[in-house]
Amino acid sequence: MNICDRCGSAHAKILLTKGTGQESLCIDCSNEMVSTELGVDLEEQPESIVLKDPKGITRYFKVEQKLFHMGIRLQAEEAIEYGYQFAIHGELDCDQKQLFQELADKVKDGLARQYIEQGIFPNDQAYQTIVDDELVGRIEYNENDPDVPLIIIDGKPYTWEEVGKMMTSYEGFQFHLKIF
Ligand SMILES: [Zn+2]
Repeated sequence: MNICDRCGSAHAKILLTKGTGQESLCIDCSNEMVSTELGVDLEEQPESIVLKDPKGITRYFKVEQKLFHMGIRLQAEEAIEYGYQFAIHGELDCDQKQLFQELADKVKDGLARQYIEQGIFPNDQAYQTIVDDELVGRIEYNENDPDVPLIIIDGKPYTWEEVGKMMTSYEGFQFHLKIF
């Protein structure tokens, strides 16, 4: 775990390179530094978003604000491993309350859309199908296999093999994979 060189917090996520030196900073210290440099203040925002997904499961998101020289980034990260993650960017002079609302809406819309449906065969074997012939997700480091990343869809981790199995019903079809 990286220690912040300014406040001693154990959550230094930012490595700042200046001239020949390097400094590890936590988000708060980085925000404070950029805020002083730019004369832009981050407004106080709710620290979490809590809402129910379409299945009625309560989802907890931790909100993180990050001030950059290029703008403001708000991120909502679900408080579980490999959960949902949503982020939104705004200009430095944007309405920050509005930006938060946009993030909350994005979380709500994201939870409303399900890409994979879980089913059970008559022989009790579980299967997964792609709902609308479309998958949207996130690529994440796989601790069990550093050579092949995990794919996070609907706030759940899937291996490429599992994704591959869902594609067997599409043999002969074309597909379009675009990463952004
Ligand atoms: Zn710090």
